[in-house]
Amino acid sequence: MTAADALAWGAMDARPCLLDLSPADLPVPDGQDRYRARQLSRWLYQGGARDTSAMTDLPAAWRERLATEWRIDPFERIERFPSADGSVRYLFTLADGKRTEAVYMPYSDRKTVCVSSMVGCPAGCAFCATGALGFGRNLSRGEIVGQLLAVAWHEGFAPTELRNVVLMGMGEALLNYDAAIGAIRTMIDPDAFGMSARRITLSTVGLPNRIRRLAGEGLPLVLAVSLHAPDEATRRRIIPTAHAHAIDDIVASLHEWQAAGGRRVTIEYTLLAGVNDDLGQARALAALLEGLVVHVNLIPFNPWDGSGFSATGTPRTDAFARVLERAGVRCSVRFSRGRDAGGACGQLSLQGAERPDRGAAEARA
Ligand code: SF4
Repeated sequence: MTAADALAWGAMDARPCLLDLSPADLPVPDGQDRYRARQLSRWLYQGGARDTSAMTDLPAAWRERLATEWRIDPFERIERFPSADGSVRYLFTLADGKRTEAVYMPYSDRKTVCVSSMVGCPAGCAFCATGALGFGRNLSRGEIVGQLLAVAWHEGFAPTELRNVVLMGMGEALLNYDAAIGAIRTMIDPDAFGMSARRITLSTVGLPNRIRRLAGEGLPLVLAVSLHAPDEATRRRIIPTAHAHAIDDIVASLHEWQAAGGRRVTIEYTLLAGVNDDLGQARALAALLEGLVVHVNLIPFNPWDGSGFSATGTPRTDAFARVLERAGVRCSVRFSRGRDAGGACGQLSLQGAERPDRGAAEARA
């Protein structure tokens, strides 16, 4: 099947997606008990069933009706880009032809997936390939959890083997609040993935009022905040939309998050040579974070054509880390995986926009 065939197929498939529903709201046959919804949920999220024919303990007529009226796989096309480091980048073509991405990262003791919450991103961080794409649209709840299922389908393991999820791919999850929180609730539902909320990381560019709202959800997630600079001028250079949210207000919302029972916060800090890697900025960052239970992830910049930034060298990275550690701030240097298979988040889509047939594609059949 060619890409054009796959898209034509998608254009004809107007069925709603089961993954967009909460597990408790899945359809049941007329007059039957709600336990049928639990059965269906377990087939979808624990058995990894991609079509209803595998659901052998559901009535045959009901399976046929489900297949007629609903779709399970929300994607028209799934492309897989393995990396030499063992990670696998996924490029998904959605029903409307737009694209989004996920990364599967296998470790010796766990399987982790980084998922997207949007097509593109409105935050427009200057160093980010996704930001360069601009905002496409929000993903639905089903398109977010569908990324986890797609990885399990294609890597050949049960979805329940996934231990960690990071919402750190394309998009600002807190601007797609209902779908992102709905997807997280599917992840932690005992009749669905049954994951621990403590193993889910939600990344945000730092939206104080959404962080305050999230604190009221009672979800013990890990919150990752992309700060990238300790002062307003530098931060606005890196994140043009940052002017709407003062750093002091972001930090105040993190204090409120932790006061409300929220867990440790991870501060994401991408080091850009000559922009935010001065040791004085390291000292300012440590002062800013005083009183918070935080871990700072120093992220070496993954250069891409047209970004206009270059990566901080290893000696300066180490010196920056030492300043933080001496000030009592825990930190580590995090290298992104999958650099040889599309590089930074958003690069697959940038490349894919020009070369839609790149890589070994697996379209809907
Ligand atoms: S770094 Fe994150 S928030 Fe910023 S543009 Fe990229 S995807 Fe959006």
